[in-house]
Amino acid sequence: MEPVFNFVEMFERSIGLKEPWKVTRAEFDEKDKSVHVYIEAKKTSKYPCPECHKMCKRYDNEDEERIWRHADVVLYPCYIHCRRPRVECGEHGIKVTDAPWSRKGSRNTLLFEGYAMMLAQMSTFEEARKAFVNVNIN
Ligand SMILES: [Zn+2]
Repeated sequence: MEPVFNFVEMFERSIGLKEPWKVTRAEFDEKDKSVHVYIEAKKTSKYPCPECHKMCKRYDNEDEERIWRHADVVLYPCYIHCRRPRVECGEHGIKVTDAPWSRKGSRNTLLFEGYAMMLAQMSTFEEARKAFVNVNIN
């Protein structure tokens, strides 16, 4: 086990975020009781075309920030915010690259979808309670 020195580093490692993607800041919304994590992609890097997956030159970023629901952080809902890079593919034109933390077109992160599926499979309150009790935090 390696030591974690701050929330950003812990968050990046928990979702497997690597260069050229980076968490730039995280905020706790006191009013809504929610956690917001902001991710940016390096401007100089190449990104895969979402159609053919060929690495292409970054063109710019998508105009609108996109928000993904992530698994809860310290019991509060967490959301990832990002304006993903657009690439210029010789075959497919200008396209928004896929975010590595999400399925294509999904508004949820992969971790959140996995967690939701696990909860959905638990048919009773007792089964859900046992799952949480059996989590080893040591
Ligand atoms: Zn392409």
